[in-house]
Amino acid sequence: MTNPLLATWDTPFDLPPYDAIRDEDFSPAVAAALDDGRAAIKAITDQAEAPTFANTIEALERADETLGRVLGAFYAVAGADATPAREDLMREFSPKLAAYGSEITMNADLFARIETLWQARDTLELTEEQARVLMLTRRGFVRAGAQLEGAARSRLGEIKERLASLGTQFTQNLLADERAWSMPLAEADLEGLPDFVKATARAAGAERGQDGPVVTLSRSLIVPFLQFSPRRDLRQKAFAAWVARGANGGKTDNRAVAAEILKLREERAALLGYDSFAAYKLETEMAETPDAVRNLLMAVWEPARAMAEADAEVLTAMMRADGINGDLEPWDWRYYAEKRRKAEHDLDEAELKPFLQLDRMIEAAFSCAHRLFGIEARPVDVPLYHPDCRAWEITRNGEHLALFIGDYFARASKRSGAWCSAMRSQQKLAGNIRPVVINVCNFAKPEAGQPALLSYDDARTLFHEFGHALHQMLSDVTYESISGTSVARDFVELPSQLYEHWLEVPEVLAEFATLADTGAPMPADMLDRLLKAKNFDQGFATVEYVASALVDLAFHEGTAPEDVMARQAEVLADIGLPHAITMRHASPHFAHVFSGDGYSSGYYSYMWSEVMDADAFEAFEDVGDAFDPATAQALHDHVLSKGGSVDAKALYTRFRGRLPGVEALLKGRGLTAA
Ligand SMILES: [Zn+2]
Repeated sequence: MTNPLLATWDTPFDLPPYDAIRDEDFSPAVAAALDDGRAAIKAITDQAEAPTFANTIEALERADETLGRVLGAFYAVAGADATPAREDLMREFSPKLAAYGSEITMNADLFARIETLWQARDTLELTEEQARVLMLTRRGFVRAGAQLEGAARSRLGEIKERLASLGTQFTQNLLADERAWSMPLAEADLEGLPDFVKATARAAGAERGQDGPVVTLSRSLIVPFLQFSPRRDLRQKAFAAWVARGANGGKTDNRAVAAEILKLREERAALLGYDSFAAYKLETEMAETPDAVRNLLMAVWEPARAMAEADAEVLTAMMRADGINGDLEPWDWRYYAEKRRKAEHDLDEAELKPFLQLDRMIEAAFSCAHRLFGIEARPVDVPLYHPDCRAWEITRNGEHLALFIGDYFARASKRSGAWCSAMRSQQKLAGNIRPVVINVCNFAKPEAGQPALLSYDDARTLFHEFGHALHQMLSDVTYESISGTSVARDFVELPSQLYEHWLEVPEVLAEFATLADTGAPMPADMLDRLLKAKNFDQGFATVEYVASALVDLAFHEGTAPEDVMARQAEVLADIGLPHAITMRHASPHFAHVFSGDGYSSGYYSYMWSEVMDADAFEAFEDVGDAFDPATAQALHDHVLSKGGSVDAKALYTRFRGRLPGVEALLKGRGLTAA
């Protein structure tokens, strides 16, 4: 019997035939797909003809067609419906795919053809998109070390290998420290904690085989504990353990690991010819340079710090009223901020939830996209990988645009968080290929017969992921390597974070936030309180985040520090971190930066995207209409349909007439008054 992953798929919308695919089929299919890929690369380098864009770059674009199909089918289930067998497959595939990737980038004959084209680029009469694909392809090879020879080449290989193992060690040390600590709570210690925190603490105790409830270092337990526990002594003890993760001495201490990682990154950047690792990392980003990143962060820092200092005074006064003297400390902030939030913006989640039905929020996301971009969504019944999955055919003017899959409910086999992925990406090189896009979330599944209800955060997540989905579904480019969300990391969150703004448009909530039983809309004062509570404690949130981002940047510029804690302290003293606030992630547990390369010199990118989404939504506000057709058209034409076919700065400038400024973000976070 042929492997169903490798056969022609005779299915609606050319979906993977999940009813026929067994887990045992994935491994041989990946092996066969890698063989296909290798054969395609060999065909490129073996041909006698001189390199052309078509016989080299386009052929390379198409080399992994089989692999793309097989992995598209696999990764959809590996993240959203994992089984031990599928987890084993993940572990099996990841080194194989890494080795295949470096086989390609280190293929000297292949790189020689690309380099020939690159040198002749001005004579090739390429379209704007083709020129971009050529530049990106060559840059990817160069950054992977394709131009290095001899000792430098082998040293780069050693560095990459050592960095991979140090990243794993960093993660494992952190996990070990998190698992090693817990603080038992007596029944009396639970006083003042809301039921959900008590329940979480009891479940954590049971999970650790303890008799009673415990506090652990998991963010979902320690943060609410710090928010709600009136016991200052216990808050201090828990906080001390939390900020010491990765810096407890002994075998799990991450300080030396972090220093070695920074040193190797510096060497890697130097081997590749860059001034610093930050310069190497930022080359592919919209920000482009360390200075641009610092300027953004500092523009936000001062107003945020001013607001945090003003808030610290309010919180200190509340603490005095409790009869406590001395300074407001980091373990006091969340507790008094929560009290203040309750006093100023009382908003009861339980009261809000019945108005936020999943089905109505899905309708709201579709309705906004219809008004903005003219798309229609029609539910379709197609076989998928799990019975909770739902599918819609997305059309525009009666023409098929995409298949959209929503997999919304939490289950044990799904990893946590929410994400958007494409089982198939848009492209035109292999015919008019339209995408298959999935939004995966972890919303609580209702009991049978009950409507699924969301928290406000859930509803925002739904809009966020649908924004990513629109970026994929509206994509209109020729080459898959630059289609949809294949853009710079500090640009990819623009469509998603921007889309969240439409949930906050009062007429949208007024229409779609309705009670399941009576259909009554959300009362005006609840809507009002909801929108106002958004900016609460933004001074604190911005300060703890920006402090971490500035330390990340400083680590990767200039000479790598021997002592990461000393360098961190220097940066924090320079910027004047308020006494009662600490970094969101201190170096010994800054997994974004040290567990892998992903967010190193890149932690700023969350805020970079936020600057853009605030500025972009202001384009609608400026004309007084959240659904202004001309602005929506410009957003579609210059951002959502373009993928990475044009440099991000140029895309944004074409949409907005200029680059983004920080003013809209400061206003959005309520920081302009400070
Ligand atoms: Zn996102």
